[in-house]
Amino acid sequence: MTTYQIGHFVGGEFRGEPTVARANPADAADVVALRPDGDAGVAADAVAAAVAAQSAWGRLPGPARGTVLADAAELLRQRSGEIARDLTREEGKTLAEARGEVRRAVDVLRFFGGEAWRSGGQQIPSAQPDTFVYTKREPVGVAAVITPWNFPIAIPAWKCAPALAAGNAVVLKPAEATPVSVWHLARALADAGLPPGVFNVVYGDGAVVGRALAEDARVAALSFTGSVSVGRELHDVVSKRRARVQLEMGGKNPLVVLDDADPDVAARIAAASGFALTGQACTAASRVICTPGIHDAFVDALVREAGRYRPGDGQADGVLMGPVVDAAQLATDRDYISVAAAEGGQVLTGSGEPAGLLQEPVVVTQVKPDHRVAQEEVFGPVVAVLSAGDLDEAVQVANEVPYGLAAGIVTGDLRAAHRFADTVQAGVVKVNRPTTGLDLNVPFGGVKDSSTNTFREQGSTAVDFYTWTKSVYMGVD
Ligand code: ADP
Repeated sequence: MTTYQIGHFVGGEFRGEPTVARANPADAADVVALRPDGDAGVAADAVAAAVAAQSAWGRLPGPARGTVLADAAELLRQRSGEIARDLTREEGKTLAEARGEVRRAVDVLRFFGGEAWRSGGQQIPSAQPDTFVYTKREPVGVAAVITPWNFPIAIPAWKCAPALAAGNAVVLKPAEATPVSVWHLARALADAGLPPGVFNVVYGDGAVVGRALAEDARVAALSFTGSVSVGRELHDVVSKRRARVQLEMGGKNPLVVLDDADPDVAARIAAASGFALTGQACTAASRVICTPGIHDAFVDALVREAGRYRPGDGQADGVLMGPVVDAAQLATDRDYISVAAAEGGQVLTGSGEPAGLLQEPVVVTQVKPDHRVAQEEVFGPVVAVLSAGDLDEAVQVANEVPYGLAAGIVTGDLRAAHRFADTVQAGVVKVNRPTTGLDLNVPFGGVKDSSTNTFREQGSTAVDFYTWTKSVYMGVD
């Protein structure tokens, strides 16, 4: 297996001493990559390279920019077998999940390549005679992007592609744990002909490199996905200098299961929402709220489903759930199992000591809305089952958390589904579908502590964050 020697990507060149190793979470002997440990100096160099490259890139016709993104998509597609394998090696998710994620990055680049051909301003009738009024979208300039490890190529792609399509230059700081996927993305963009300096990558500690990008006065917009605590800190730093900031943070996503649902179907949806991706998704469902008539049958079915998600090496055939990303996350998962039990929850599965980072799926019942496992994001394969008397109480329980990212319901009752969609506090609502799994052409974002509640990501609206509107009044007499 290759051990990649990765450098920062600054001004079209790879540089920096690769010193920090990343090992495969399923196999500590498999060193996936060595990457550099950047400092504020390399972050500043990357911003300088972005500033120098941005205006020429921004002046290119949109279709020319779109063609580069589409060509990069094609290169990623051609390399997708290798990239998916590397993604599984560095992050741990199953090969099927990794293939889906790489495919998503390909489609995202294609989609925003197309947007660069299509998106523009408006022509608006002027109240003044002989005056032609139109709006244009101007790129904000240099955008910084800080990303987490759980979708190491899809999130960088869905944040950077709209920025690039709109004519911005980008400096990306990927998560410490997952250097390789972004390196593949940088190579595809460079090989597709993206001019040097338009896309830059700096590796290193968030508190050093990420913080330096947030503080840099030349960075006009910062888009972040990660924890609430870091997001809040970045919000303060970036807002203070009146630049734009977009945050996507945690979730404590509920799945409501009503009496009329088929317990097996509901359990499949709950397991796909909570155990797939090892529960390491912002949109994973970590609370299931059942009404009384289905509770027991649902719990039995969920325990059976949990048995299918035996953790294993993501590269092995038939494995539905990969390892936890690292020892720190595993310790968090284990801690919540103890906390749940101590607060009166009944831990039905997954309490046994894991082999390595292979945590079994965890089902906890008898959980009350104020228990920590019902309030706090775990980011692991831990599903808490709660009870509610009826739909209204279920929605009330669903809403009594600080987060509001995704929410789901399983029911055949159309009236109940609409009522849920209208009243649940979440940016994404799913009916009879897992809470995870989004369409790339649909706006995405949360409410409450999950998001900045301003600019949405994904879909055509993603470009809004990276552009500002100029209104032109053209007198024609
Ligand atoms: P997670 O719990 O998913 O690792 P974090 O919020 O810690 O979430 O990390 C998400 C991203 O934010 C990573 O790229 C990380 O390096 C970066 N990061 C962490 N701390 C800071 C910080 N103080 N300033 C800027 N970026 C940070």
